[in-house]
Amino acid sequence: MLDMNHQFDAHLNVQSSLAPLRVINVKPSISVVGLGYVGAVSTACLSSLGHHVIGVDIDPAKVNCIANGKSPIHEYDLERLLGQGVDDGLVTTTQDLEQAVIDTDVTFVSVGTPTAADGGCDHSYIDAAARAIGAGLKRKNDFHVVVMRCSIPPGVTMGFMAPIIEEVSGKKAGVDFGVCFNPEFLREGVAVADFYAPPKTVIGANDDRSAGIMTRIFEAVDKKPIVTSIETAEMVKYVDNVWHATKVCFANEVGRLCKPLGVDSHDVMDVFVQDTKLNLSPYYLKPGFAFGGSCLPKEVRAVAHIAKQQGVSLPLIESLGVSNATHIERAVEMARETGAKTIGVLGLAFKPGTDDLRESPILEVIAALNAEGVNVVIHDPAITPETPLEGQLAYVRHGSAGLQSLAHDLPAMMRADCADVIEKADALIVTHSNDLYRTALENAGDKPVIDLVRINANLDPQQNYNGIGW
Ligand code: NAD
Repeated sequence: MLDMNHQFDAHLNVQSSLAPLRVINVKPSISVVGLGYVGAVSTACLSSLGHHVIGVDIDPAKVNCIANGKSPIHEYDLERLLGQGVDDGLVTTTQDLEQAVIDTDVTFVSVGTPTAADGGCDHSYIDAAARAIGAGLKRKNDFHVVVMRCSIPPGVTMGFMAPIIEEVSGKKAGVDFGVCFNPEFLREGVAVADFYAPPKTVIGANDDRSAGIMTRIFEAVDKKPIVTSIETAEMVKYVDNVWHATKVCFANEVGRLCKPLGVDSHDVMDVFVQDTKLNLSPYYLKPGFAFGGSCLPKEVRAVAHIAKQQGVSLPLIESLGVSNATHIERAVEMARETGAKTIGVLGLAFKPGTDDLRESPILEVIAALNAEGVNVVIHDPAITPETPLEGQLAYVRHGSAGLQSLAHDLPAMMRADCADVIEKADALIVTHSNDLYRTALENAGDKPVIDLVRINANLDPQQNYNGIGW
């Protein structure tokens, strides 16, 4: 864990193993590289918090614009803040990034990362900025923090930007200079207001000192920043935006379906968003196993069917079944990869605490393995060999291929004692997270375990222990 109490203050003693921090009496000065939508707002707002900010861009028009207290973009309240910053002597601009690095304590990188020709992320602007930052660091002795703010694939900050800076400067990241990833979540149009009331502040850092400096910079607007690893912070930015895009498409598909049905989509979604326990909540948002049970698969199919009847195309909703099947298939592949002749399954129902087997996704895994000649032994505290399955089978007659094919074999696979399953199996699949299985797995020795529910968050994936999504 990072030490959140480590604070930016030149007057505090700095650990001797670290490069000395420049002695200053004021808040850290900041160079902002890239004066576009992100950089211009950062420049203005950070100066309003009392930081000296040097705005840097290769575009002389933007550099001159901000130097004159004018905004290079249309953004509410930005010009007022920039003008104030220039008048107060807190905002200056330059095209010379190397010198700006020498003259400041922290560099925020907000150059563009447009889509590359292959559909990926174009790193060329980061490359150029990193080289100039490295050249600046080479010429200074003080500790300096480089803060990446661009939206980039996980790994680019430490795997691409930091090595260039290290190579050019001859210095070591995390020792001679700090590296952070601080994603930008401000909405264009209300970016200035969002700066002072951010949805969250995420500081990705691999060293306490840099995390402490960033925490101090943002404490005026967020006293509880989320400090995490650089790679997690990089991924969060992408995941957030994909989630927002998913929400937009979902709501629009609801609208397209509601219209021909004569239902007011805004009434529907007004009710939908009031459910903060299941709908707009962390529920269902941790990677785990596939969805299943008697409701979700059935209703997803029903909605897709209504859309088809209405001649409405709903690619997102229609793709849910495909996504779920892909996840189930991945579990089958992982079981196959163990080469086990006998697979033990801990948890059969679609969730713990019920004997409802209808469309439990693990049944599809068991059916696939069974068809390939793999023996399967199963434990579920809520299901015994005597649990009647006929009613459930009839219910899912048109839904679950797995349960149909297993109807005959399933009772013989059931074991009353999970220790029995662990002993008989060459490899195990865990589908329920509970203390019984957590304890039982301690006796699994080095048998491969495919954990579909992250039963023990402290266990790192390794050769004999793995999850689908972690
Ligand atoms: P932008 O295109 O508006 O601005 C980028 C600026 O960087 C330009 O002014 C360009 O001249 C400058 N630049 C490029 N190379 C440079 C270099 N070597 N030295 C100095 N300046 C250089 O981009 P933006 O919209 O501000 O986005 C910047 C980054 O932040 C991108 O990675 C983007 O994905 C991310 N981001 C953007 C937003 C947003 O709302 N626009 C929000 C969050 C994150």
